[in-house]
Amino acid sequence: MKTILVISIAFTGIGCLAIGANTNNVAAGNTGETNMETPASGDFYKNLPNGFELPRDDAGRLLLREYGAVFLARGGATPPKKVVYRDEADVVAFQNTLKRSTEIIGGTRIELQTAAMEALKAAIAEAAKSGLTIGPRGADSARRGYNQTVSLWASRVNPGFVHWVGQRRVTQAEAIRIRSLTPYEQVPEILELESQGIFFAKSLDKSIIYSVAPPGTSQHLSMLALDVKEFENARVRAMLAKHKWFQTVSSDLPHFTFLGADESELPNLGLKKVINSGRTFWIPNI
Ligand SMILES: [Zn+2]
Repeated sequence: MKTILVISIAFTGIGCLAIGANTNNVAAGNTGETNMETPASGDFYKNLPNGFELPRDDAGRLLLREYGAVFLARGGATPPKKVVYRDEADVVAFQNTLKRSTEIIGGTRIELQTAAMEALKAAIAEAAKSGLTIGPRGADSARRGYNQTVSLWASRVNPGFVHWVGQRRVTQAEAIRIRSLTPYEQVPEILELESQGIFFAKSLDKSIIYSVAPPGTSQHLSMLALDVKEFENARVRAMLAKHKWFQTVSSDLPHFTFLGADESELPNLGLKKVINSGRTFWIPNI
C-alpha cells in the first residue's frame, strides 16, 4: 500500500480546509502539522446511498468533504440522504424513520440507531474484559435535535460578530443582517466571511466547522455518532474501530461515527485514512 507524507502549510481560509490543514481542538501531544495519508481505492460518490442529494453550493461541498463519511454508513445503519437538514421538522421526520435503541451507559441515557447501539454494546462488553470502560461524555453525546445544533452554532456566531464588528472587519449592519437570517441561511454567509479570513471558531483563528457543526449538519442528528469519554485512550479507540466505530471528523477528537463496515473495507468505499495527532481518521476521498 502506498503511503504519502503530507506536510500541511499555513491555514489561510476555506479554500485550504483540506486534509492536512486542520488544527485540532486538543492541545496535548498534538503537533497538528504532520499527517500520514493513505489514498482510497474506491469511489466515494458511487457508494453514497440511493437518492442522496448532492450539494450544489460551496458550503455544502465543503461539509460533504469534512463530515461526509457518515453518508456511507451500512451494516444495518441508515445514513442520511442530505448534507444539511433544514429545520427541526426535517430532522424529526428523518429520525422517525430510523430503527432506534435507548440504553443507560455509564449512568447516562443515550439513543442511537439500533445497529450502532448493538456494535457499541459489543465494544463495551469486550473492553470490560480488559478492565476498560467506554461511555458517553455527557447527556448530549449521542442523539441530538436540530435546535441543539442551532444553540451550539449561535454560541460561536454571536461572539464572533462582536469581535469582528469591533475589529471593523464586518459592519454592524452586515452582522445584524446575517444574524436575522434563519440558521440554514446563515451557514453559507458565515463560510463566505471565513473565506476572507473572518473566522468564527471559538478561537477566532479557524473555521467554525472545526468548532461546532453548522445547524442541521451534525452527525449526531443521524444517531450514528457518539462523543466518547475515554477518547484519549488508544486501546478504547482500537476497540471501537474493531466494532465499526471510527473517527471521521479530523478536528473533533472525542467524536466517533458508526460506519458499519470493517476497517479493511473503508478504502474500497472511497474513504482515505489520515493519521493526525496519533489518531486514525477516515475521510471522504473527494
Ligand atoms: Zn460529536
